[in-house]
Amino acid sequence: MTTTFPAPIRKTWAMVAHAPNTPLVREELDLAAPRDDEVLIEIIASGLCHTDLSQLEGKAAPYPFPVVVGHEGAGIVREVGAKVTSVKVGDHVIPVAIGECGQCGNCRSGKTNLCEVFLSEIATQPTPFSLNGERVSAYSGVGSLAQYVVMNERNVAPIRKDVPFHLACTIGCSVATGVGAVLHTAHVAAGATVAVFGLGGIGLNVVQGARLAGASRIIGIDINPMRDAQGRRFGMTDFINGAQVNAVEAIQALTGGGVDFAFECVGNVRLMQQAFDSTRIGWGCTVILGVPADGETMPIVPFMLQLGRTVKGSFMGNMQGRSQLPGLLDHYAEGRLNLDDLVTHRLSMASVNEGFALMKSGEAVRTVVSFAEDMFKGETA
Ligand SMILES: [Zn+2]
Ligand SMILES: [Zn+2]
Repeated sequence: MTTTFPAPIRKTWAMVAHAPNTPLVREELDLAAPRDDEVLIEIIASGLCHTDLSQLEGKAAPYPFPVVVGHEGAGIVREVGAKVTSVKVGDHVIPVAIGECGQCGNCRSGKTNLCEVFLSEIATQPTPFSLNGERVSAYSGVGSLAQYVVMNERNVAPIRKDVPFHLACTIGCSVATGVGAVLHTAHVAAGATVAVFGLGGIGLNVVQGARLAGASRIIGIDINPMRDAQGRRFGMTDFINGAQVNAVEAIQALTGGGVDFAFECVGNVRLMQQAFDSTRIGWGCTVILGVPADGETMPIVPFMLQLGRTVKGSFMGNMQGRSQLPGLLDHYAEGRLNLDDLVTHRLSMASVNEGFALMKSGEAVRTVVSFAEDMFKGETA
């Protein structure tokens, strides 16, 4: 038995990519009923992320087509399975790509967000979507460019109700990945120097994460000059136009030998190398956040590691989806995180292809789309 209001929801509108490099088209999909440990969520707002685009372009595309992309959603619980205890109908929630069972060794370690259940399912993530009996993939196990999704309870994070959905959704990927990488992967200390390669939705959140951590100097590197003014709104202290100067030399000069931490937020292996080279010998740490095209590798000369430098990476900022993620909205509500300047464009779901074009042109930082007319309101339940 499931708790249902007002009637069972077994169909959903979704924006579907049938093949790489084709426009998304609106389809009415069959939606699996939530099982005992599952939750049905009405998605009110969903942010567009670069990794969605990489899937759509077939560059870093782990999910078979047809696929519903989107993994940065926020919405309202509409049905819960009989064994679900931590959320109820009407709750505002974020569907999280990496679940948190709370019981496995990894969840209890306090060191990683990579729940062992997630790791065991990573190649076979379930999807609630089908069309004429054929499976339709849900990107990242979420597929939030849909009106409704069904998630396991461990992939559902309840959030406070006073943050509008079009801002709240951003914590599901870009804010978690960027801010989390600073606080939960690199553990940037007060006074540290930081370089951020790529000032898109992830990079600007690394910038504001570094500000939150008390970094003394936050250097942003991008080839888009618009990112200079945008970066400063999030706490960036210096901007380097990577198209005009040698970024590594410029960072070495600004910091007298290199930064304590460098973050790569693009997924370009050449930039990863530059990030590594811009860190200080002795203790400099490079954090890899960008997702390169399938099959690309980053070469490292072992001697460079013997000089005390390290390379780390994280998935969703190493933030645990249920116990840590919702706290990011407290930072927003209390004025420590800027989400308002992150969401530069808001579109109806019918214009989602335009949203991806805005991303490719570099005009948008985050575009948020919705099927719901009321995505810009706070409480709608
Ligand atoms: Zn993402
Ligand atoms: Zn777990």
